[in-house]
Amino acid sequence: MDLKTERVKVLILGTGPAGLTCAIYAARFNLNPIVYEGHRPGGQLTTTSIVENFPGFPDGILGAELIENMKKQSIKYGAEIRYGIATKVDFTGPIHKVWIDDGNLIETPVVVIATGATAKYLGLPSEEKYIGKGVSACATCDGLFYKNKTVAVIGGGDSACEEATYLSNICKKVYMIVRRNEMRASKILQQRVLSNPKIEIIFEHQPKEIIGDNNIVTGLVIIDKNNNEKILNLDGIFVAIGHKPNTEIFKPFLEIDENGYILTKPNSTQTNVPGVFACGDVQDKFYKQAVVAAGSGCMAAIEAEKYLQTLKLENF
Ligand code: NAP
Repeated sequence: MDLKTERVKVLILGTGPAGLTCAIYAARFNLNPIVYEGHRPGGQLTTTSIVENFPGFPDGILGAELIENMKKQSIKYGAEIRYGIATKVDFTGPIHKVWIDDGNLIETPVVVIATGATAKYLGLPSEEKYIGKGVSACATCDGLFYKNKTVAVIGGGDSACEEATYLSNICKKVYMIVRRNEMRASKILQQRVLSNPKIEIIFEHQPKEIIGDNNIVTGLVIIDKNNNEKILNLDGIFVAIGHKPNTEIFKPFLEIDENGYILTKPNSTQTNVPGVFACGDVQDKFYKQAVVAAGSGCMAAIEAEKYLQTLKLENF
C-alpha cells in the first residue's frame, strides 16, 4: 500500500468517551480534529448494556447510544471520524508522526491518546483454545448465544456483576466465580447479584481449567485455596477480571507505569512529550469511569488548544 502523508492540527486516537469528548471540544475550537476509531470503535461502553450512572440520563442510556450521540455531536462541529488503527508512532517531534493501517502517515503537532483499555483474560492454555468457542469477555456482545443455557462469569468487580445481571435475563443459570471471600464491586451492584435468584455466587474459588469437546466449552474446573476441585457443567464462560491499557506502540516514547498506564503531569493530560496528551482509561488506573474519561477528554482538548497557541505553525 502506498503511504499517503497528511498534515493535521490535532489527531485523536480512540472513540470512547475520552476521545469523543476531546473531539467535540477540539472541533468547537476550530481545530478540525481527525479521530481514528481504533480496535474497538466506541470503546468499552459499546460492550456494556445500559449505563445508569452517566449524568443527564435519569432512566439510563444504552452504552452504544451514548457513544453514537457523542459521535454525532463531534461531527456536527467539524470532527472527522475514520476507521483505522495506529500501528507505529514517532514522537521525537515537534511534529509527531503516526502511521495508520489505512495507509496514511499523519503528521501533527498534537496527538491525543484515548486508546482505552482491553479486557484481560485468565491466561490458562485451555482458555485460549476456547476463546470464541464458549469463552468470551463481553456478555453484551455474545450473551444471546446462551439463551436458556448455563454460564459462569469470572470476577467480582463491577463488570462481573453487570455481566452476570445482564446474562441472568437471558440464561437459565449464571454462576459467579469470585476468588476472595468478598466482591470488589460497588455495593449497589453486589446487592443486585446477591438478590438475583438465577445467580449463584461461588466465593473463594479460582478457575483452574476450561473443559470442552475441542469445539465448544462444556464445563469449568474451579479450585479453592486448599486445591479442592469442583466441576461446573457449563455452556459458556464470561471473563470479567479487569482491563489492560492499550499503550504498546507508545512505550518507546512515553513514560508508562508498571501496569502499562501512561503517566501524565498532575492535574493535566500532558505526557512527558510536548504535544502528546493522554486521556481516559489509558491513563486512569483509579476511577475508570465513563464520566471521568469524558472529563479528561475535555481537559486534553483545552490543553491541546493552549499548546497550539504557543507554536508558530505553517502548512497545518
Ligand atoms: P476490577 O474492578 O479490577 O475487578 C476485577 C475483578 O476480577 C476483581 O473481583 C478481581 O479480584 C477479579 N480478578 C482479577 N484477576 C483475576 C484472576 N486472574 N482470576 C480470578 N479473578 C480475578 O475490574 P472491572 O470490574 O472490569 O472494573 C474496572 C473499573 O471499571 C472499576 O473502576 C469499576 O468501578 C468500573 N466499572 C464501573 C461500572 C459501573 O459503574 N456501572 C461498570 C463496569 C466497570 P480481586 O478483587 O481479588 O482483585
